[in-house]
Amino acid sequence: MAGTTVQRDADRAAVYAAEDQWTAAIDRGGPIDFFGSRLQLPVQTRFGSLEAVERYVEHLATMHPGVPSVTVRHRKGKARAHYSAGVIAIPMTAPWACRESVLLHEFAHHLNALSKEPAHGAQFRAALVALVERAQAPESALLLRRCYESKGLVVPAHVD
Ligand SMILES: [Zn+2]
Repeated sequence: MAGTTVQRDADRAAVYAAEDQWTAAIDRGGPIDFFGSRLQLPVQTRFGSLEAVERYVEHLATMHPGVPSVTVRHRKGKARAHYSAGVIAIPMTAPWACRESVLLHEFAHHLNALSKEPAHGAQFRAALVALVERAQAPESALLLRRCYESKGLVVPAHVD
């Protein structure tokens, strides 16, 4: 709509599709062929309890000392993880949700909380790629960037 100041989250479906590919690859981990060179992917961590999730998010927070604190809580149902106003809500009864990729995604929302861009826009993607590089592995970040680009999504250079 012309003149609107609210930006629609137009990239969300493509972001989810790209991250589904990335997540499947780091569920397995190990070597992959990447444009003719061999990348060694890490196996992503799975968490068995809310305490383990909290410890991991605290670990992410200590890597970002200037960022306001974030808390984690259990969310009912199995459908979605969610971030809002400094709280990450994870449906702990859903095995797909208790994975490192999901926490990295939600923590990137926290890092990007003051952005005026759509929730899954270019700044969010740049923040998540930089977070994955720092917290998990550069090989995993390379793959995530490639998955975004294969869906036609731009990933600008990240500025802290
Ligand atoms: Zn999201």
